[in-house]
Amino acid sequence: MATGADRATIFALASAPGAAGVAVWRVSGAQASAAFAALCDRSLPTPRAMTRVRVRHPGADAAFDDGFAVWFPGPASFTGEDTLEFHIHGGRAVSRAMARALSAVEGVRPAIAGEFTRRAVEAGKLDLTQAEGIADLVAAETDAQHRQARRQLEGALGCLYDGWKQEILTILARFEAGMDFPDEDIPAEIFARTRPRLEALCRAMTAHLGDRHRGERIREGLRVAVTGAPNVGKSSLVNALARRDVAIVSRRPGTTRDVVEVALDLGGLAVIVGDTAGLRETEDEIEAEGVRRARSWAAAADIVLTVIDARTWIERGPTGVDRAGETATASARRLIVVNKIDASPGARLVRPAGPTTASAGEPMGVKGEPRVLAAARPARSAASAPVVFLSARTGEGLPDLLDALRRLSDELLGQTEAAAITRVRHRRGVEAAQESLSRALAQEEVELAGEDLRHALRSLGQITGEVGVEDVLDVVFREFCIGK
Ligand code: GDP
Repeated sequence: MATGADRATIFALASAPGAAGVAVWRVSGAQASAAFAALCDRSLPTPRAMTRVRVRHPGADAAFDDGFAVWFPGPASFTGEDTLEFHIHGGRAVSRAMARALSAVEGVRPAIAGEFTRRAVEAGKLDLTQAEGIADLVAAETDAQHRQARRQLEGALGCLYDGWKQEILTILARFEAGMDFPDEDIPAEIFARTRPRLEALCRAMTAHLGDRHRGERIREGLRVAVTGAPNVGKSSLVNALARRDVAIVSRRPGTTRDVVEVALDLGGLAVIVGDTAGLRETEDEIEAEGVRRARSWAAAADIVLTVIDARTWIERGPTGVDRAGETATASARRLIVVNKIDASPGARLVRPAGPTTASAGEPMGVKGEPRVLAAARPARSAASAPVVFLSARTGEGLPDLLDALRRLSDELLGQTEAAAITRVRHRRGVEAAQESLSRALAQEEVELAGEDLRHALRSLGQITGEVGVEDVLDVVFREFCIGK
């Protein structure tokens, strides 16, 4: 990753590559105007106005394309530097010609991933959380991801942390004022008087951290693990979900070859369903590794779907549910899926044993359940997990499963519009800041408490990128694509 010292002028295709009506190229840096002079047959255009240009290789007579250019002189540009945009035709041959032409200009080189946004951060145009908002906005597939990325790009998270920093600075200023009177009781008094403010700040951080990973879940998708005995139809169920083109965002190869992941858009929320079919004891070493990976995937699941064959359900009810391979945490929500009801339609008539009323904290309970269960209302098993009846083969009952999943995700994620932590990086920073504040509260000397407050400021400053740490920037910008 380039550092501030490397001030080459950079260029990149900012729109998606391949055949396209229009391709947008970005050029940023001191040589942007020289690049314009070398490629175009006219003088530098009026700032921020689309201007018709013909584009040629430097020194060539013939143009290789016709299009438009926009000139954004620094510092009023995205990166803060002189910036040029070319809107020319898309397509591989034109793009190759453009890349060759720009590379031929002295002091101009292709940009690396995230380099434009990194320069914007370095120029103070955006804080680091806003830069991450851009990456998330570009990657957003669901409505909830889109909304969250917009909020972060608008600075919701940065503003929250800035507010906290301001409060800490105010308290710190009082401490420092107090320290000017070392012979008197003033420092101790000031310390005592700022206590409630520090405590309030600590509480705000606790609330922010206790969001049940909402922002991270929205960004990455809720994890749904599909478990159960062999041959109950786990893979068939994941495939059936993947075939529902209305629900599908993308089908992707699993993080390991042992877990097939399917990303669903459930009413605007991303849900990643993982088929952990390989969960069984084995002697084979390679297979055992696969099982280990599948287990660790399932262990991090937010929702566990335990699949049972309808015939087993008829014979044994909820006691037939095989949880042998399950390793999910206690906080994971469970859903029992009775599959193959096409082959054993009587399964629907089997009323789950045990409580039929919801216990406290189990919002999906069904009171006074009729003997034949209402389609969209999951019944409850003995272990008080809701039950859904379906056939992965015919697709019957799949909408009920999607409804149940939607309800569980709403329950897990809630509907708050508060600025949410979207990355582990933020969480670590807030945790570190909170620890420093707690340490400050436990100090007896105001000087030592002041030192703790400065640590807290530093931790928050690292989240927003104000305390510029190269390796933090490298990590953040690694997830960008070229042209951003
Ligand atoms: P897994 O081992 O749990 O992943 O089970 P599979 O998805 O491989 O399915 C095991 C067998 O059950 C296959 O022969 C499937 O065709 C069959 N199967 C799966 N779902 C259904 C269903 O809904 N109805 C019927 N009749 N058969 C099914």
